[in-house]
Amino acid sequence: MLLDFLLSHSDRGFSVEELYESLCITYPTDRVPGKSTLYRLIAKLVSEGLVKRFSGEHGRQFAYQIIVCDECDAHLHLKCTSCGCLYHMDHAVSQRIIHEVFNRSDFSLDEKETVLFGICKGCQKRQKP
Ligand SMILES: [Zn+2]
Ligand SMILES: [Zn+2]
Repeated sequence: MLLDFLLSHSDRGFSVEELYESLCITYPTDRVPGKSTLYRLIAKLVSEGLVKRFSGEHGRQFAYQIIVCDECDAHLHLKCTSCGCLYHMDHAVSQRIIHEVFNRSDFSLDEKETVLFGICKGCQKRQKP
């Protein structure tokens, strides 16, 4: 159930809290596992590499998102703080950014952990009057 849900929402990340609420809306509540079970299941999926864990914006809870491509360890991700969608940055662009940062600041970015926060195209459009 959890995998099905994550797969059909593979474009965004969820905190366990959000996952629980969304599962309750999508499935009959008596079939939805409790939050502590969800934490365990998610941790298992993360250790199996099926789900990726991102730090939440502003140090909030972690967000979990299913991995649909197997190259997520090699590019940066963009997270929209408005709708919560997570975008996979173009490979070439993210390599260029990593390279630039390293060249100019002698700082080696961790592409697995780095998420850039901002507002996605759809939300920018929606926010315009
Ligand atoms: Zn990715
Ligand atoms: Zn957005």
